[in-house]
Amino acid sequence: MPSLSPRHPLVVLALIIVMAAIFLVDTVTDYAVAAACFYAAVILAASRRLPGRGLIALAAICIALTGLSFFLTRFGTYRIGLVNSAIGMLVIGITTYLALKMEAAKAAVQDAQARLLRVARASTVGELTTSIAHEVNQPLAAIASSAEASQRWLAQEPPNLDKARQTIARIVADAHRASDVIARIRGLTQGAAPERQAFDLNLAVEEMLALSRSELEQHGVTVALVLGSDLPPAHADRVQVQQVIGNLILNAVDAMSDTPVSERRLSLVTSYDGRGHVSLSVRDRGVGLPSEQTDRVFDAFWTTKANGLGLGLSLSRSMIEANGGHIRAERPPGGGACFIFELPTATETAHA
Ligand code: ADP
Repeated sequence: MPSLSPRHPLVVLALIIVMAAIFLVDTVTDYAVAAACFYAAVILAASRRLPGRGLIALAAICIALTGLSFFLTRFGTYRIGLVNSAIGMLVIGITTYLALKMEAAKAAVQDAQARLLRVARASTVGELTTSIAHEVNQPLAAIASSAEASQRWLAQEPPNLDKARQTIARIVADAHRASDVIARIRGLTQGAAPERQAFDLNLAVEEMLALSRSELEQHGVTVALVLGSDLPPAHADRVQVQQVIGNLILNAVDAMSDTPVSERRLSLVTSYDGRGHVSLSVRDRGVGLPSEQTDRVFDAFWTTKANGLGLGLSLSRSMIEANGGHIRAERPPGGGACFIFELPTATETAHA
């Protein structure tokens, strides 16, 4: 059920009706009936929706209504009414204080969770560092050699300006490549909210494979890539999706560490279901998934690795779901593991 904003007319109306009812009961009944204590329930219910200042304002209104009821009540013993009203105001005050504390504690937990996610991302980056260093080094080396070449073209008598211009254009292109890689690393570590845009899933997969190339080569993993033709663009945060792909590739490499080198095969297949979803499956020939509760691998902190955090897949699931998609794990016949995620296409999102 979608949650209503605190300013939604229905929420405001419900609040006014309940408060009016309490006020009425408190006013028309005997001084001995401490109906004002029910304002505490209103405060508690509102604490989930109202910001701190709003809650304090609401508590002030409840206290004022309690005082007003006391002056308007015509039945019972005046002294009992005075004590009951004071107790009611105290209950409202204490409830507001506790509700504010509770909300602050919840905010602190959320903050800690967000930090934990960033730590997890940073650890993924740590694992990818080797590949990334390799990837950044390549354009840098190319830039250095193009720069030397252009110096030589310019030093000629007469200077060969055409050749110098061509090598400088290569320098510019290589510099862009290097800065793209850096931008991707920054995206991985920033822990940003999804920025959904249309992008080509096939290209994203190819880029992530290129980024993981040295890791895959180092472990002797052969890659079979089957890219669906005419894939419509996915609508999601490209950087987050690429991080998920990177996670799945690294997990597959880890899972195949005990597989004989000749059988270390990784298959990546993209496809379109014809109903508004593009998908990627990543299948390896490694140790495979636990036979019961395959879904456990997505639990936070569930890991079988000595130095694993058990956050990669849980994070991947949150990211895919935050982008309107789904991810699941399967035990394919023939062994190994298969992870499949689906993402909405740009047209599906536009019609949703
Ligand atoms: P970590 O890699 O830090 O353990 P993950 O959340 O990425 O955290 O993975 C959780 C666990 O799921 C891993 O420890 C491993 O036991 C299991 N797992 C993940 N991917 C695979 C895979 N491709 N094959 C077999 N087991 C896997």
